[in-house]
Amino acid sequence: MIEEAAKLLARSRFAIAFTGAGISAESGVPTFRGFNGLWKKHRPEELATPEAFKRDPYLVWEFYKWRIDLIRKAKPNKAHRALTELEEMGILKAVITQNVDDLHREAGTRNPIELHGNIFRVRCTSCDYREDLKETGRLDEFLAQKDLPRCPRCGSLLRPDVVWFGEPLPRKAIEEAFRLAERADLVLVIGTSGVVYPAAYIPQIVKETGGKVIEINPDESGITPIADVFLRCSAGEAMEKLIERVRRLI
Ligand code: NAD
Ligand code: ZN
Repeated sequence: MIEEAAKLLARSRFAIAFTGAGISAESGVPTFRGFNGLWKKHRPEELATPEAFKRDPYLVWEFYKWRIDLIRKAKPNKAHRALTELEEMGILKAVITQNVDDLHREAGTRNPIELHGNIFRVRCTSCDYREDLKETGRLDEFLAQKDLPRCPRCGSLLRPDVVWFGEPLPRKAIEEAFRLAERADLVLVIGTSGVVYPAAYIPQIVKETGGKVIEINPDESGITPIADVFLRCSAGEAMEKLIERVRRLI
């Protein structure tokens, strides 16, 4: 199976990767299901919504600060690094992620397309103010602040620059992802349950336009029925073996 996947990758002309929370599990970032009960018995689906933020912004910010703190300690793993290497080899043309953890960029991937935003960015709920707390070096200060965070420009509440349940995806990112999917002759799907739309259309588009689908997941997902090769394995282990074989083939 790994051999077959390696051959498909080495032979591809325009491969893309599509990743979900599972690729970061071995970095210590829990998947969405993993978050259940991990934080004060709240389900993330009840906290990551515009309604929850309206009702209790303090609770939602407390949850996000806890997550930011967890994620900032996480390091990219073998799977993130292997994707960067595939990109450097010229095989992988783009990485499209549903993750907000910034680990693809940390691993050196050049321009990951973030469909669900980035947890290290904040934005104003009224004006177009945005801030990347990693870039401005204000992360510690931000996390330590007890009051609700406010926009330095207009004083309105700041919110995490991530996509919540029920919200549309950033238009530029999803359009670019769909364009890449139409062009791709192979998609490497890693660690996603494949049930969150419209992101889950990406592997379907590749398949419908005649491309191959390679999936890596220890469990079956919504993508498994259309996978040409299904590697039932953790992301780190599978990608380590895969990259080793691809290196030998090219
Ligand atoms: P999901 O939690 O729905 O699914 C995770 C998938 O990863 C599952 O299919 C699971 O079997 C698989 N998995 C678990 N461990 C794995 C491993 N070691 N290697 C490979 N696969 C593994 O997550 P999703 O599909 O990304 O979609 C749900 C939403 O969760 C997204 O919108 C995303 O924004 C959000 N989310 C992001 C993060 C993050 O940034 N890391 C974390 C949690 C949730
Ligand atoms: Zn503002």
